Amino acid sequence: MTETTPSTPKAPTVVRTPEELARLRASMGRVALVPTMGALHQGHRSLMSAARGHADTVVVSIFVNPLQFGPNEDYDRYPRTLDADLRVCAEEGVDVVFAPGVEVMYPGEQIVTVDAGKMGRVLEGEFRPGFFEGVLTVVAKLFNLVRPDVAVFGQKDAQQVAVVRRMVRDLCLPVTVVAAPTVRDGDGLATSSRNVYLSAAERDSALALSRALLAGADASSGGPEAILAAARKVLDAAAGAVPPVLVDYLALVDPATFTDVRPGHRGSAVLAVAAWVGETRLIDNVPLTL
Ligand code: AMP
Repeated sequence: MTETTPSTPKAPTVVRTPEELARLRASMGRVALVPTMGALHQGHRSLMSAARGHADTVVVSIFVNPLQFGPNEDYDRYPRTLDADLRVCAEEGVDVVFAPGVEVMYPGEQIVTVDAGKMGRVLEGEFRPGFFEGVLTVVAKLFNLVRPDVAVFGQKDAQQVAVVRRMVRDLCLPVTVVAAPTVRDGDGLATSSRNVYLSAAERDSALALSRALLAGADASSGGPEAILAAARKVLDAAAGAVPPVLVDYLALVDPATFTDVRPGHRGSAVLAVAAWVGETRLIDNVPLTL
C-alpha cells in the first residue's frame, strides 16, 4: 500500500529589499504584480489566480502603507499576519513575495508624491483626505521597484482602480492594469481585511451595504434616480438598525472618472457606498450597465 502525504506547496521567495528584487528581476520573465497590505483573504487569492494567467512570475507585495492612512485611522491596529500570508501565497503558487519594511519604502521624508488630482478629492478622497496620494505614491514606487508588465487590482476598491489606471495613462507608465471582480462571503459581505474588526452584530448590520447595492442593481432599468432611491431605501432602514449603519456616501458614478452620472445616463456605471458600522469603515460597490 502506498501512503499519500498531502503535498506541501512550494514556499515563495521572500524578498525584503529593492536590491534583492533587482537581482531576481532579470530571471522573472513576464511579471504580474498584486499589491496588497497583507491579512490576505479570498479576495486577494482571486487576484493572485488572475495574475497567474498574465505572467510567468507572480509577485505579491505585502506592505501596510503609512502614507495612505489618516492621523485618526487604523494604521497601528491594521492586522499584520505575515506567516499566515506566506502560507496563502504558497497555496496560490505565488513565486515572489516582496515584503519591505517601512524604512525601505520611506527611508527619509517623502517630499515628492503623486497627486490624483480631482479624482482623488471625491468620494473616498473627500472622506479620506490624502488617501489616494498615499496610494498612488506607493503604487508608483512598487511599479518602479518590481517593474511588472501587469498589475492586478480588485474591483472592490473601484475608485482605486480608476485612479491607478489614470496615473498609468497620464504618466505613461509601462504597465497594464487588470481589475478582478469583487469576492464576497456567502452572506454577500465583500471580503476585507477589516472585516475582522466586526462583532457578530456589526457584521449583521454591515450586510446592508451589499443588500443596498443589490437593490440598486435590481432597479437599474429605471435609470440613475431609481437605482439611487432603491439603494438609499435599504440604507435608511439600516440607519435604524442596532448597531446602526452610518453612511458616508452613496453615489452612482462613471467608472473611469468617478464623477456622478447624469440623469438619463446610458452605459456603464458604478454604484458605490461607504459606511461606518461601529468603529469600522466599510466600502463596497457594484458595476452596472444602464
Ligand atoms: P488591500 O490589501 O486591502 O490593500 O487590498 C489589496 C488588493 O486586493 C486591492 O487591489 C483590493 O482591491 C483587492 N481586494 C480586497 N478585497 C477584495 C475583494 N473582496 N475582492 C476582490 N479584490 C479585493
